[in-house]
Amino acid sequence: MLDEVKGFSVTLKRLFAPKVTQQYPDEKRAMMPRYRGLPSLRSDPDTGEALCVACGLCARICPTSCLDMNVVPSEEGDRELAEFILKSGRCLFCGFCAQVCPVDAITMSQEYELTVMERDGLVYTKTELATIGGQSPIWWESGVGPENQQTNAPSYYDPFRDKGAELY
Ligand code: SF4
Ligand code: SF4
Repeated sequence: MLDEVKGFSVTLKRLFAPKVTQQYPDEKRAMMPRYRGLPSLRSDPDTGEALCVACGLCARICPTSCLDMNVVPSEEGDRELAEFILKSGRCLFCGFCAQVCPVDAITMSQEYELTVMERDGLVYTKTELATIGGQSPIWWESGVGPENQQTNAPSYYDPFRDKGAELY
């Protein structure tokens, strides 16, 4: 009997609690700071030049081989990234590519509306990835981790933040 009363009390509580209905897609929820959306490319904010040094590490570590790169010799005799392709249909959103990049040129964006009508739409080029990367914050600068304690990460991350030193 007591169990039934307890059960009904939960129902009653929820009945009068304020309803939270998100009017998606008109209203979008703020994503979690470390949400891993579509991988994207970052550029130098001052010069606008891609940060990628065409080392190929991201493509090598990618578990699903969904990154393709076309690297050409640069005018300075170095390596230059001519094209960078992401086949997002295969991407696991694991974030390995972003973790391994030595110059933080590839980052997990917060882009999640990835539905397309044609399969071709799942292929992102360097320019498209750079456009997405330019709009989105960088996941590891978004407030979780010992070096970013003072940022505006949501308060429900606080317990996690307190343990940042152990986790990183
Ligand atoms: S997030 Fe993972 S699966 Fe997707 S491109 Fe990066 S390494 Fe590959
Ligand atoms: S790991 Fe970084 S620098 Fe190297 S190819 Fe990938 S994005 Fe470019």
